[in-house]
Amino acid sequence: MIHYKTADDIQVIKEGAQILGQAHGEVAKLVKPGVKTKDLDKVAEEYIKDHGGSPSFKGYNGFPAALCISVNETVVHGFPSQYELKETDVISVDCGVFYKGFHSDSAYTYPLEGVSQEVLDLLDRTYDSLYLGIEQAKHGNRIGDISFAVQSYVEQFGYGVVRELVGHGVGKDLHEDPEVPNYGKRGRGAKIKAGMVFAIEPMINLGTRNVVQENDGWTIRTADRKPSAHFEHTVAVLEDRTEVLTTHKYIEGNYKYKWRNKSR
Ligand code: MG
Ligand code: MG
Repeated sequence: MIHYKTADDIQVIKEGAQILGQAHGEVAKLVKPGVKTKDLDKVAEEYIKDHGGSPSFKGYNGFPAALCISVNETVVHGFPSQYELKETDVISVDCGVFYKGFHSDSAYTYPLEGVSQEVLDLLDRTYDSLYLGIEQAKHGNRIGDISFAVQSYVEQFGYGVVRELVGHGVGKDLHEDPEVPNYGKRGRGAKIKAGMVFAIEPMINLGTRNVVQENDGWTIRTADRKPSAHFEHTVAVLEDRTEVLTTHKYIEGNYKYKWRNKSR
């Protein structure tokens, strides 16, 4: 069942999403070789709590942290740990904020400065696919229009589109209807209507689309252990436009490596 949001609900989600964006921005300052992923989690959790929110993921079905931190072949749902970043790593940071009764959800994948051009291209194109999906997320379209836009763009480069995990409605619950797959057909799926708020989140693999779950019951990695990229925004559909509620601007402002300008 889809829960439609009022203008007031959307305003609250937007406020929470600002806290989320700034928490991501605090993390961005610290992403460099030698940092422990657990330390990134600590900074995000403190920032969120200091600004009147709570981390959506911590305690969600028993998840132990504020951030999902997924390095290299880990696609999503990695645990923050004592692992120290290396200069050839890519690291996906996924975070959610619960604020005044509503969640927001966004993710960003960072390349460190030693990452190959091939992997930079993967990240850049996954980022682009998120925005191609957002362009289709408009009143009167169908969810399949988003799915098709993402899939058809990234598959031309030979990348694998993860099937097992999808975008989702966002609201009083972190995961609501509808599902927003990153693969599908134009004109299929639920009709997109004003008042819908959902997360679009392409998870794109350099190699095979197949993934496996680690024994911890959470961590999802690529079956061939090649790297994966993940970018996510929470968007609100209005009658005349679609608003991206979450933001990567604090990440892009604070992260020293301006990789988006360099790639391609
Ligand atoms: Mg997320
Ligand atoms: Mg999500």
